[in-house]
Amino acid sequence: MFTDKSSCFFVPVSSGKIQTMKTYLSSGEVFLGHKLVGEHPERPERLQAIEAAIEGSDLLGKFRRIPPRPATTEELLRVHSAAYLADLRQRMGDLQPKGQGWLDPDTYYGPGTYQAALHAAGTACDLALRIANSDGDNGFALVRPPGHHASADRAMGFCLLNNVAVAAAAVRATGRRVSIVDFDVHHGNGTEDIFARDGGVQVISLHQFPFYPGSGAATSIGEGNGRGAILNIPLPEASAGPEYKLAMRKVVIPALRRFDPDVILVSAGFDGHAQDSLAGMSLLEDDYAAMVASLLTVQTRLLLVLEGGYQPSALSASVLAVLRVLTDPSGPSGYRPSGHDAGVAPSDAVRKLLAELQKLHGL
Ligand SMILES: [Zn+2]
Repeated sequence: MFTDKSSCFFVPVSSGKIQTMKTYLSSGEVFLGHKLVGEHPERPERLQAIEAAIEGSDLLGKFRRIPPRPATTEELLRVHSAAYLADLRQRMGDLQPKGQGWLDPDTYYGPGTYQAALHAAGTACDLALRIANSDGDNGFALVRPPGHHASADRAMGFCLLNNVAVAAAAVRATGRRVSIVDFDVHHGNGTEDIFARDGGVQVISLHQFPFYPGSGAATSIGEGNGRGAILNIPLPEASAGPEYKLAMRKVVIPALRRFDPDVILVSAGFDGHAQDSLAGMSLLEDDYAAMVASLLTVQTRLLLVLEGGYQPSALSASVLAVLRVLTDPSGPSGYRPSGHDAGVAPSDAVRKLLAELQKLHGL
């Protein structure tokens, strides 16, 4: 696994000339080192299932593989406090790993955790910067531990460093505009907290509500300079493709077009899948593909960063469906909606919620 096969493909552009476009993919053994002796849903088998699915698919060889790299201190300090980073180093040991423990009731660490976390944030940065500097490349950072519950100074909900926030801050440091779209089933409270008073990074989260971690109400829209740059779409339990697609069309896409990002980063969690028992949503892999395809209509410079997704076969099928969109968005093997939910109307509750959000955000 983790072979370094790479290639690119050709996308005809409207001018008639042929443009080379790449899909970056990064994963690696370093991310398997984060593990617990005992049962935990956030385990190395998640990534192994994804890699096995890619190896067994016709997509093998369609990626530009990038080896993982650690985040630099400068990159981390744009998002996390020096005191928190020192605390992580002291507790886990950066040079001499210190065994196993817990940072919060859900968040374990083991001997390989510090390096995995450092590489998860660094790899997200690396891919985001390559994409930001490209004419329209995209990518997927297949990393763990996940990041979107981690705030500037706190580990939480399986997350130590906020990978997508560190990547967003790296891109913004180059003077570019960045939007984060978070479709993990849980609210990305850490990401919101980091950028809530900022305004320079747009953060849009679709999540089950009310649910862990409890935040993410529609009325949470950012403060001060950040007012309006935070957009929460709290969806009721059992929401499925029709509800998410309507949310994309009515709120997410118009909000993105108004912010006009140079790069879109996606907190790509797949725990809203119908087969995932950690939450109560009813998405299928095709719905994730549809969401990513619609994001690409706003901005082709798009990077997905793995967050949750705890049922290995549903997770790997969903990642594969998304990779199919990324590698060939307009080609014959590209994404075609299966129409599995054709004719199913979104619920009235979600229609009402989206109308309220449109009003609240002036969309
Ligand atoms: Zn989640």
